[in-house]
Amino acid sequence: MLRDTGKVMSSLPLVFEPPRRGQVPPRHLADLTADQRRAAVAELGEKAFRAGQLSQHYFGRLTADVHAMTDIPPRARAHLAGALLPRLLTAVRTVSCDDGSTGKTLWRAHDGTLLESVVMLYPDRATACVSSQAGCGMACPFCATGQGGLRRNLSTAEIVEQVRAAAAAARDGMLGRPARLSNVVFMGMGEPLANYRRVIAAVRRICDPVPRGFGISQRSVTVSTVGLVPAMRKLAGEGLAVTLAVSLHAPDDELRDELVPVNTRWKIAEVLAAARHHAGQTGRRVSVEYALIRDVNDQPWRADLLGKLLHRELGPLVHVNVIPLNPTPGSRWDAAPKPVEREFVSRVNAAGVPCTVRDTRGREIAAACGQLAATATANPPTRTPPAPRPARHLSAPPAREVSEFRDHGNRFRGPRRARGSGR
Ligand code: SAH
Repeated sequence: MLRDTGKVMSSLPLVFEPPRRGQVPPRHLADLTADQRRAAVAELGEKAFRAGQLSQHYFGRLTADVHAMTDIPPRARAHLAGALLPRLLTAVRTVSCDDGSTGKTLWRAHDGTLLESVVMLYPDRATACVSSQAGCGMACPFCATGQGGLRRNLSTAEIVEQVRAAAAAARDGMLGRPARLSNVVFMGMGEPLANYRRVIAAVRRICDPVPRGFGISQRSVTVSTVGLVPAMRKLAGEGLAVTLAVSLHAPDDELRDELVPVNTRWKIAEVLAAARHHAGQTGRRVSVEYALIRDVNDQPWRADLLGKLLHRELGPLVHVNVIPLNPTPGSRWDAAPKPVEREFVSRVNAAGVPCTVRDTRGREIAAACGQLAATATANPPTRTPPAPRPARHLSAPPAREVSEFRDHGNRFRGPRRARGSGR
């Protein structure tokens, strides 16, 4: 089937463990539980209640700026900030689109690793889309990040910092009007369940009440996975009522083996059984992601099969999100035509499974699904993408940093060497 498109299929290996080289990111307040923070502050010879003050500034006021912490004596401030609030991420570039209501930031970590996050303002919510890994080892052939390979896991605090920055940007009106960050989706770079321990700790920091965390509701956090079945089952036992999103993209194993290569390890039936288990444990409806690709997975019979399968396996506990394929450089695949998309959606709905088309925020700044390819280095796409419409800069980057990136209208490139795994 896929060979009909004339594109040689991806034969990248699946990578579950990042190469172990380089330094782990420095320890940060957001890596630690509330108890660990108190212990760390005491170890530094400071009064333990300073841990609560630091946490209030960081998680409550969304600031990591030591100068703003005027309730802490200056000497203790410098000491504590130096030990517990190292700068983990530096914004290299920030661009916006959708009339300013979508913003993407390219971050540089302490070791030069690049990653991206996106924040989107809607009438009823503000959502941060965060990265859990630099790159991704899951090798999905239609995804720009997947084609770049895995560089390293992000530390808990590197994930949490993306959320803090998004929450501060939303609060400060950077998206058009001041808003409270209400949702977090792990749909940026990486496979969150392949960085399990750090992602779960990050979810706890995101959801724990201030000052332990940001106090965002668990059900407003979505963890998206290719279907790592053992990790899905473990997640269901964490006592976290987060929403699980499963990137299905095909209702039959033959096609899914190609579109989502990890399917060669865990088949659709196992993935849906694990999703059902999660729904049973949490009471949360599972979100099934389906990137609709012209002449690849958009046939009416596949819509019928998808609807039948999901209705049988998940009953009322599922919702399908159709994502119009966002073409990646070098791929000949494209989104399904709108009439085909409409028919697909209505057939899935007719099977009794709610199905809607995901809106496509961030397309013109390469911030839409699968386009976060800042660290794509292992297998650089061969064709240059079409020029995007000019994006409005929120902040001009220092010229020295930008000069390292090619093609920065649509895609960023980082240093070629992979580094070790994170904290
Ligand atoms: N690794 C996780 C998170 C990835 S991004 C996962 O796969 O679920 C979130 C969603 O964007 C996934 O469903 C992914 O398959 C989808 N996606 C990736 N590239 C895309 C593209 N080019 N067009 C549309 N959706 C894409």
